[in-house]
Amino acid sequence: MKTYSEALFLAAAGVPADFPPPGPPEVAFAGRSNVGKSSAINALLGRRRLAFTSKTPGRTQTINFFDLGDGTRLVDLPGYGYAKVPKPLRAQWERLVGEYLSAARPIAGVVVVMDARHPLTPLDRQLLQWLGDVPALLLLTKADKLSRAEQAATLKKVRAAFETQAHLFSSVTRQGVEECRGLLEQWLQQAAAE
Ligand code: GDP
Repeated sequence: MKTYSEALFLAAAGVPADFPPPGPPEVAFAGRSNVGKSSAINALLGRRRLAFTSKTPGRTQTINFFDLGDGTRLVDLPGYGYAKVPKPLRAQWERLVGEYLSAARPIAGVVVVMDARHPLTPLDRQLLQWLGDVPALLLLTKADKLSRAEQAATLKKVRAAFETQAHLFSSVTRQGVEECRGLLEQWLQQAAAE
């Protein structure tokens, strides 16, 4: 299975004009701020700090593009739902991410990263509706903070609410890393074949 150890940073785009031209298939990562999205990306790519975000609300938001080493791409969408984010920044998020999702980009799938302790917030649900037919994976991270029984109950609840794949994940224990890599590879191969 691919480990993505050759992944490289490609570009950070604050406006759609700065998106790299569409080409190879892309998997995008989305999620509320602070859920552990950057840590999950770093765990999946086997890097410490390839993806990192500033925790300062009000900072310019960018969509970050990475080459996974074989031309396929990973796209880190800016976090949403930060309570202290001013309104104009929320509008900017919607415009930027909306453009990304609606532009004719070869999106193989979207990983929606959620805190396993607080999954499916209203903004997560809104995003999932927004995705429509795009394949999605619900990644329930910080699973290490839940007991086995809580993990099972959370997974069951999330799977009952959405007919999408859902996996438990932890950047600390690396639970779910291999499963998630496998799905990304499958999505990217399928998209490349189409
Ligand atoms: P992002 O804003 O979604 O990119 O979140 P970060 O990846 O920066 O993580 C936010 C905080 O959660 C940091 O303090 C991380 O150390 C912590 N964190 C991230 N993933 C995990 C995890 O799987 N388990 C635990 N226990 N903490 C995590």
